[in-house]
Amino acid sequence: MSGHSIVSSLRHDEQIFAERLERARQAMRAQGVDVALLSLGLDMPYLTGYNAMPLERLTMLVLPVNGDAVMVIPRLEAPRVQPMPNVFSLLPWNETDDPVVITAELVRNAAPSSRVIAVGDQMWARFLVDLMPLLPNTQYRRSVEVIGSLRMRKDSAEIEALRSAGSAVDKIAGDLQAGRIALVGRTEAQVSADLSARIIAQGHDVVNFAIVAAGENAASPHHHPGSRVIQPNEIVLCDFGGTMNGYCSDITRCVYTGEPSSEVAEAYAVLFEAEAAAVRAATVGTPCEEVDAVARRVITAAGFGEYFIHRTGHGIGLDAHEDPYIVSGNSLALEAGHAFSIEPGIYMPGKWGMRLEDIVVATIDGPDSMNHADHHLWSV
Ligand code: ZN
Ligand code: ZN
Ligand code: ZN
Repeated sequence: MSGHSIVSSLRHDEQIFAERLERARQAMRAQGVDVALLSLGLDMPYLTGYNAMPLERLTMLVLPVNGDAVMVIPRLEAPRVQPMPNVFSLLPWNETDDPVVITAELVRNAAPSSRVIAVGDQMWARFLVDLMPLLPNTQYRRSVEVIGSLRMRKDSAEIEALRSAGSAVDKIAGDLQAGRIALVGRTEAQVSADLSARIIAQGHDVVNFAIVAAGENAASPHHHPGSRVIQPNEIVLCDFGGTMNGYCSDITRCVYTGEPSSEVAEAYAVLFEAEAAAVRAATVGTPCEEVDAVARRVITAAGFGEYFIHRTGHGIGLDAHEDPYIVSGNSLALEAGHAFSIEPGIYMPGKWGMRLEDIVVATIDGPDSMNHADHHLWSV
């Protein structure tokens, strides 16, 4: 599968995956990795279009740096795969086979004596624990160090998929701000279910989360929506998203059931400015940690620094959270095609919390926002 002449003779989708596999092999070669073993997680779908079922049976893409890619798959799940024989072959295993032994054999054929293997973060531990004694003289690495950098750089089709998912949740945020989603008198869980139904109605395949946190509950950034009934005159934080054609949306907007107190309104003005400043700072070449610092400086200067208790953002793509992380200590410079959230927050324990989140793609023409829902604190 080397050389452009072979690649360009493939079907369009086969060509995309063949090119991704080739780039993965180049990254493996550059980093001295002999074989990548990819199971659950989104590296395998990125490279093959197939997302394994998160069950007990092993599905594993064995990708040697030199040699053909093989997907080891339970025979009963093989029909789920869109075959691309020019890109990877299928090796179905039967219920009485040991797929770990099969995988180890493929690895030994690809790299007979000693080897460096990159494994995906989400492979079940049981498979790695069983595999290790079968492969002496092996060093293990995390595949995110090899394939993560490829997945980070979104191509134009991926960016358009993120944009469609973003516009879909923008509409829901607009309904929320316009008061078209009833809040007062309903529980957080009911509103969460309502948001989830709208995420699907807007064209997503899956709901990933729909956080609804009212009043003091909004001070817990990942609050689990529960039986608390939403009251008049409180903040309601909604953070929701799903997966549409393989790519994720993720947006946070807050609304106020009444006229916000001056305390809340002033804090929100700070949050608004912090978020906008960080989005403006998300330019190609800027280190991730600097984007975080831009948001943090605005919030800290207003005296809320100790109440901004998480990083500014996370990468997004096939996965709702992936590289690059917009966090202090990450000196990685943004590249064109990097996609990530900008989501500063201010959380007053026992009182209220607020967060404002957009998905942004770094481009040579500047930050390109996937979300355009209004950024103000609407009274509903
Ligand atoms: Zn979060
Ligand atoms: Zn979010
Ligand atoms: Zn997010």
